[in-house]
Amino acid sequence: MSADQYTFQDPTTRYPYISPPEQDQPEPGLDQKLEPQTDRGQESYRGTGRLAGRRALITGADSGIGAAVAIAFAREGADVALSYLPAEEPDAKEIVRLIEECGRTAVALPGDISNAEASRGLVQKAVDGLGGLDILVSNAGKQIACERLEDLSDEQFDQTFKTNVYPLFWITKAALAHLQPGSSIIATTSVNAYLPSKDLIDYAMTKAAINNFVKGMAQQLAPRGIRINAVAPGPFWTPLQVSDGQPKKALPEFGKSTPLGRAGQPTELAPAYVFLASSESSYVAGETLNVNGGMPTP
Ligand code: NAD
Ligand code: MG
Repeated sequence: MSADQYTFQDPTTRYPYISPPEQDQPEPGLDQKLEPQTDRGQESYRGTGRLAGRRALITGADSGIGAAVAIAFAREGADVALSYLPAEEPDAKEIVRLIEECGRTAVALPGDISNAEASRGLVQKAVDGLGGLDILVSNAGKQIACERLEDLSDEQFDQTFKTNVYPLFWITKAALAHLQPGSSIIATTSVNAYLPSKDLIDYAMTKAAINNFVKGMAQQLAPRGIRINAVAPGPFWTPLQVSDGQPKKALPEFGKSTPLGRAGQPTELAPAYVFLASSESSYVAGETLNVNGGMPTP
């Protein structure tokens, strides 16, 4: 096991600078084919029982950030239902294996959540498989870079919203029938919510919408004892980036312009989700926790 997240270490050198070669994968990309490989905590994340006995549904849990969160949750003692696209079965199998290795239950739920019925069905299957639900992580996302608005198709615009925004509404709404006081909802937004990249107009709009949903819903849900928060990642090395999430020529420089000078590795986000999921954060609601290598945020 390599150094865990509690080891005293320099954040600028905890991970090496990466200069990912220009590469392409069809959407959705696979972690297995990513060059270089990512750290999702498989060798390093050390759990200390912070989520003992909790039951979590995580969308986009097969790869990247969602996979790092799934590994961390399981090592903290939670059972996990994983949502992902059927094409991502090879990545999902590996995360299921890592969850089961902790002695926790993994419920694999392949399917496309960009329609209401699938999203609602997902919640029911997670509840059936886990015996209830205490944590919802809405993390699945679509990001396709496009340099000119004239080239941004109506279909892409629609599908970006149908993947990033609508399921947050559908899944949260369905989950509320099951979430007891003490439960936690966490949505993955982005630094693009307030620093929109010029190549990610549709994507950045969805991330602003997610932030806004979280801040409104936090006020609605707080009296019911349910907290909802967001995590806003900066540049993290994941399959999203090579399946047209970035212009190809931008890949070798990915993450280098942050104050920490490097891209983040997915496992560096996991403690933020663990904190927001656990009762440690009992007085935190409607917050957006930025994990972005030091970029200033509002
Ligand atoms: P990723 O490709 O590993 O994860 C995205 C996941 O979304 C996929 O694994 C897939 O399972 C899921 N997904 C996409 N469309 C779906 C659909 N129609 N139905 C079901 N599942 C679907 O990449 P990631 O970077 O880990 O992305 C996770 C989240 O983090 C996304 O919301 C993304 O916008 C956000 N984010 C990423 C970064 C970054 O730099 N990587 C920065 C800010 C925000
Ligand atoms: Mg994936």
